[in-house]
Amino acid sequence: MEDINLKMVDNGLDFILKSLDTIDKSDEDLKYSLLNLHAGIQLMLKEILYQKDWSLIFQRIEDADFEKLRTGDFSSVNYKTLIKRLKEEYDLDLDKKLSDKLRWLKKERNKAEHYQFVVSSDVIKSNIVQLLTYLIPFLKENMIEKGYFTADDDRFTQIKEYLHTFDAYVNERLILVEDVVDKIDVPMKCPECFQETVEFTDETGAFCYFCNEYIDNFSDNYIYHFVDRYSAIKDGGHDPLMECPSCDYETFICIDDYQYVCLSCGVKPTQDELTTCHGPVCAEKIVYRRYTDDGGYEPNFCNLCLDYFKHA
Ligand SMILES: [Zn+2]
Ligand SMILES: [Zn+2]
Ligand SMILES: [Zn+2]
Repeated sequence: MEDINLKMVDNGLDFILKSLDTIDKSDEDLKYSLLNLHAGIQLMLKEILYQKDWSLIFQRIEDADFEKLRTGDFSSVNYKTLIKRLKEEYDLDLDKKLSDKLRWLKKERNKAEHYQFVVSSDVIKSNIVQLLTYLIPFLKENMIEKGYFTADDDRFTQIKEYLHTFDAYVNERLILVEDVVDKIDVPMKCPECFQETVEFTDETGAFCYFCNEYIDNFSDNYIYHFVDRYSAIKDGGHDPLMECPSCDYETFICIDDYQYVCLSCGVKPTQDELTTCHGPVCAEKIVYRRYTDDGGYEPNFCNLCLDYFKHA
């Protein structure tokens, strides 16, 4: 069979590098940075499929045709199918952190393409550092080690240099805001820059010191990016969004094993201050722990259960 050189790796590396080259330019360039980065990574992932079996890069495998491949006259696999095939055909499960960042990229890319562009280059850099941190080892393992391109490829070297430059830049910005961030009672992760630099008070107030701006719809965006209800519940685990002991909204989350935050009213109790209601009505609703004068504590009940006792 005739050997077709699709140049997907070459174009992929070119696109990624070009995207990093233009990030410090104007807003218009920033938009193309996102488009190019997404296109470049997608080409790299496609190459992995192509090496396994060329028909896999057709969106509909039943349409796979060598002549169409040669002339480029075909619909190539879309992003969603691409990821699915990598998993099914290649048993290549993207690391969760990498796939999270790719999801971020896809979303920003769509925004850049369809809406007016608002995100700043600082925010993009912060995210790209995180993306490249996972992407580079991925490319090494799944492409360089397989011989799809070489480790001394000039473009790959330059991409790694960009990572270091951006990383240094992001760290410098973090140091600039360090003092004020240290004073935040419970700093939270920002759904824009993904740094832990948000001061959150209640659903009307969330300020990110890295982004240096108020974050609109912080609660919804935070849940969208960082609260994975699906994975938690599917394996029989409990819902990460719990009922708040203060405002009763189902927006009470545990951000590490000890610290809780309500994304509606902004209360931030720790594990020590909480217990579960052992009343007969609710299903172990979280309530505040009631301490007695001698330092012990007594059972506390939720309003529902207290109501039940009153009328029983
Ligand atoms: Zn931020
Ligand atoms: Zn609350
Ligand atoms: Zn109860």
